[in-house]
Amino acid sequence: MTGPSVSALTKNECVCEPDATSSKLTETIEIEEDAHIHVAEWRLQKVQSPIELQHDESIHHDHFEPLEFHGHWDVGGDATFTNNGFTATLRFKNRELPILKGGPLHGFEYVFEQLHFHWSEDDHSGCEHIFEGQAYSMEAHAVHYNKKYADFQEAHDKHDGLAVVAFFLKATDAIENPCFSKLSTAVMDIVKINTETSVSSDCLTWIKEEAQCKGYYTYQGSLTTEPYTESVTWILYPQPIHVSREQVAHFRSLHSTPCEQHNIKTNVRPIQKPTEDQKFNIIYARNHRSSSPAP
Ligand SMILES: [Zn+2]
Repeated sequence: MTGPSVSALTKNECVCEPDATSSKLTETIEIEEDAHIHVAEWRLQKVQSPIELQHDESIHHDHFEPLEFHGHWDVGGDATFTNNGFTATLRFKNRELPILKGGPLHGFEYVFEQLHFHWSEDDHSGCEHIFEGQAYSMEAHAVHYNKKYADFQEAHDKHDGLAVVAFFLKATDAIENPCFSKLSTAVMDIVKINTETSVSSDCLTWIKEEAQCKGYYTYQGSLTTEPYTESVTWILYPQPIHVSREQVAHFRSLHSTPCEQHNIKTNVRPIQKPTEDQKFNIIYARNHRSSSPAP
C-alpha cells in the first residue's frame, strides 16, 4: 500500500485526512525541532528535475510547519496569460503579489512570479514528475522566488532562490472543471505565439482545495527548462486536479512558431535519474494544523 489513494477519486476532493497514512510510515520524525535541523541539511542536497516519486521511499515528517498560500486566489489587480511558444504563462500585475511561506521554506517568504503548464500529445503523459508510477495529463508549476533577492532573475541560480509548487491535472471524460475554465477558455485567445490576453484575477481557485491539503512531497531539485539550475525547492501535491479532456486539448492548439505551422505538442522534460552517489531525499511533509488560507 502507498499513501493517499489516487485511483479511487472521481472528482476533486482532499483525501489527506489526519491519519490516512500514519500507520504506514517508514520513518517518522516526531520532534518539531529535529525536523528543522534535518531541513537545514536537506536543503544542501540537489538533483536534476523532474524525478519519479514513491511514497514508501520518502522520509516522513509529521510536524512540518504548515505551508501557507497568501493571496493566490484573491480578487484584485490584473492577470495576463501569454503564449511564449513553449508554454502558457500566467502573471499578476497591479496588485500585491501572492506569497508562499512556511513548510520547507526555512523561514523565508517566496514571491509569486508566474504559473505555467506542461502537457503532451496525449492525456497520459503530459506531466513532468511521476508519482507512484502514474503519469497525468498536465502539470502546473507555480513559480516563486525568495523575497530576499530583488527579483526572479537574481534568485534563479541561488541555492535557496526558488520554490515551485506542482499540481497534477488529470483529464476525464466530459467533466469540465468550472474553476479551471477561466484559463482553459482564455488559452484559446493566445493561440498565436507571443500573444497575451487578460484573465480574471481570481483564476487560480482551481488549486485552492489541493493547496490546503496537509500532505505534500518536497525535495531539492532544478528547473526543468534551461538553464536547469539546481535552485528549486519543489513542493508536489499528489492528488490530481480533475479537468475535462477538452480543457486539456485547448492547450495543444497553441502555436510554437510564427508561421503557425507548428503547435506546442509537448513541453515535458524526461525524468532525470539521480546518480547512485548523490545524497538525496524526498520528504513527505504533513502537519497537524491546516495550512492557513490568506487572512
Ligand atoms: Zn515547469
